[in-house]
Amino acid sequence: MKKIFILLLVLVLALSLCGTATASDISVKLNGSQLSFDVPPTLDNGRTLVPLRAIFEAIGADVKWDGDTQTVTATKDGTVVALTIGSKTAYKNNGPVELDVPGKIINQRTLVPLRFVGEAFGSNVVWDGNTRTITITSGSGSGSPPSDPPTKSKMKAHFIDVGQGDAILIQFPNGKSMLVDGGPRTAGEKLVSYLKKAGITSIDIVVATHPHEDHIGGLLNVLNNFPVNKVIDSGYPHTSKTYEDYLSLIDQKDISFEIAHAFNSINIDPGVKITILHPGTTMADSNNNSIVLKLQHNQVGFLLTGDAEAEAEKYLMERTDATTLKSDILKVGHHGSRTSTSDAFLKKVSPSTSIIMLGEDNSYGHPHSETITKLVKIGSEVYQTNVNGHIVVFSDGNKVNVFTVSDKPISSDSVVIEGGEVTLQRYVGSIKSDKYHYPSCRYAQSINPENETWFNSKSDAQTAGYVPCGVCKP
Ligand SMILES: [Zn+2]
Ligand SMILES: [Zn+2]
Repeated sequence: MKKIFILLLVLVLALSLCGTATASDISVKLNGSQLSFDVPPTLDNGRTLVPLRAIFEAIGADVKWDGDTQTVTATKDGTVVALTIGSKTAYKNNGPVELDVPGKIINQRTLVPLRFVGEAFGSNVVWDGNTRTITITSGSGSGSPPSDPPTKSKMKAHFIDVGQGDAILIQFPNGKSMLVDGGPRTAGEKLVSYLKKAGITSIDIVVATHPHEDHIGGLLNVLNNFPVNKVIDSGYPHTSKTYEDYLSLIDQKDISFEIAHAFNSINIDPGVKITILHPGTTMADSNNNSIVLKLQHNQVGFLLTGDAEAEAEKYLMERTDATTLKSDILKVGHHGSRTSTSDAFLKKVSPSTSIIMLGEDNSYGHPHSETITKLVKIGSEVYQTNVNGHIVVFSDGNKVNVFTVSDKPISSDSVVIEGGEVTLQRYVGSIKSDKYHYPSCRYAQSINPENETWFNSKSDAQTAGYVPCGVCKP
């Protein structure tokens, strides 16, 4: 404990000596669109440092990281830029360039000088002190086409495997976050560590769809571990100890508490329209009073239904038009129970991807085979957290990519899970390098656990900017 404290003290001193300060009020625009960074730009002696991967990705350069020499090499349109962390000499096409401020690692993130990077690739970099905005304009012909949205406009929806229960993290294009449910109490710690790995340091909105333990139990850990700006509740009370604990924690932490009203919207990111569809009236039980949310990210729609059952579905159909319910992604109601996902409702939603959140060997017999059959029959790909583990859906506003532990959705032409074996292959990398490995690789085993980052598929690793290890060749 003492050691950690001293280490922290040294770190704090070192940082203050360097004269660095995070500057979250600085905005960076590339060819007219605002870039968002998961860690804010840092000011160092009047120079702005930004996260390495984010800036190179935005510029459209290919990045290679050599952990041994701590050197990043970025290539675009024949220009090669090399930058060694801590060194004031960078190289552009092998010619040395002197830097005022070298790249550095702060809070385990590699930051690079923005101006040097932008100018090295032929862009014009202008600082406006009044608006604290840095504008990067690509040189003629080499910029990305305007129709190609920056990768940062992607939205990520994590359907987190919390066993029997729901926990859905949405990371918006503007960097804000919303957590819909927190799974059962027993999964609280696991959920917190997942959120940390996803880069979450605070949560803008927590939605508790309804007061059942498998939805709010884990929220206790979440509320104790992250600053939360607002909690939205269904307003349908429950007499359980867990619900009481949840309410008193919200009160104790003085978190703003709102009751959901149908057809109100949640304003969190101008790029994503969120409408509360339910509860529009008070129904006879908690499940049917679940908060139902529709998220619309340009062309891509998500419907999150909590444990809403047929009664709520009927009410929803009476009160909404077809386009409101139509969704690409459906979080299937009530863990795949036969009491939800009525035929007429499913027809209205007609999801191309359905996600069922549940635990193995639950006492309810979820998911019911009737539900799976229905979903498969309409041509929907079905993912289940008990089979696929964590399921992450990326949306760029036009299409979605789904990443899972097994990468195998259950569909009519796909694997049979019952009784058959499903091999789950995950990959691991270090946040300090750009290689991903089989967990058995000797390099994987030498990664400090604190620096581990796990991927549910190769494509997931590659999307995150990682390349296969040359030794284990995943
Ligand atoms: Zn439930
Ligand atoms: Zn429930």
